[in-house]
Amino acid sequence: MKIICIGRNYADHTAELQHARPDEPVVFIKPDTAIAQSNLPFFIPEFSNDVHHEVEVLVKINRIGKHIQSKFAHKYYNEIGLGIDFTARDVQQKLKSNGLPWEKAKAFDGSAVVGKWFEKSTLGDLTTIPFALYKNGTIVQEANTSLMLWSIDEIIAYVSQYFTLKIGDILFTGTPAGVGAVEKNDKLEGFIHERKAFSVTVK
Ligand code: MG
Repeated sequence: MKIICIGRNYADHTAELQHARPDEPVVFIKPDTAIAQSNLPFFIPEFSNDVHHEVEVLVKINRIGKHIQSKFAHKYYNEIGLGIDFTARDVQQKLKSNGLPWEKAKAFDGSAVVGKWFEKSTLGDLTTIPFALYKNGTIVQEANTSLMLWSIDEIIAYVSQYFTLKIGDILFTGTPAGVGAVEKNDKLEGFIHERKAFSVTVK
């Protein structure tokens, strides 16, 4: 399986990183080895001094597809989740300033936290899902899928022009504002519609 991630999908986060609003989605991929083991803490990698949390709504693909039209995209997933796209911001800044690919900053082992899955039918209108990330009990990222520049169905249509979607693939749909560095012993908890999706300790 593969993890397809969207960058800069919320205007407020795009602004906080001082990026221009993109004309089309920013796309990158994490390998399956990026998925964090759910029973283990997140270990800050030795190569970074500035790992940021990015809470994101996730979509699990349940049908194979290519060139999927937006109006049919809803047939390709039944479960929605919440996760973290851990980002070695210092490594990413260096790569970006040299015009190089982001993988070392984005796709390292353990960089993809995948929380609990929820049947989409239990989440109401998928274009207005509230979600939040708490760090040590304090809310640090709070948003709603209504603030996405590209909706889940539009993302599926866009990425499936380039990549065949397969059963079990996961989409990370981008992070809202409020990203920040994590430190040892931080506790990160994600909620979607007040429902707890994950709890991760940083080591
Ligand atoms: Mg992200």
